[in-house]
Amino acid sequence: MLPVPQLVERCRSAGMRMTPQRRAIFEFLEGNTDHPTAEAVFRAVHRRHPGISLATVYNTLDTLERLGELDRLELGGAAERFDPEVRPHQHFHCTRCGRVEDLFGDVPTPAVEGPVGCRVDRVRVQLVGLCATCRGRERPARRRGSSPQ
Ligand SMILES: [Zn+2]
Ligand SMILES: [Zn+2]
Repeated sequence: MLPVPQLVERCRSAGMRMTPQRRAIFEFLEGNTDHPTAEAVFRAVHRRHPGISLATVYNTLDTLERLGELDRLELGGAAERFDPEVRPHQHFHCTRCGRVEDLFGDVPTPAVEGPVGCRVDRVRVQLVGLCATCRGRERPARRRGSSPQ
């Protein structure tokens, strides 16, 4: 995603009506590595701009995606997440807490070779498991589980 001032200009020239609420969405997303859901964006911006609607959040996110300033992540069944980091990278998804972490460069990606006649634009690799925090909680949870009731 572009820095907020340039993003505001880009969206204006793409015909988006700029409002303080939309600017607040941009500010929340800038540098955000949490891969928030639309609802999380709404909750965060709503604190300072109680007048904002979820529909405004959705259509702002849609516009940013259309402009290539935001990626939409579909992580198998869970709610869609949004990512202002649009440089190519992969994601690790924790199945327990839902945390999504960025992985740059060091993931072995398969050779980009699609079916004959197709053009491959993106390769999606899904890494799923437990994040460091959840792994740290794993042992005490097992102990509790194995103790007699
Ligand atoms: Zn986790
Ligand atoms: Zn990401």
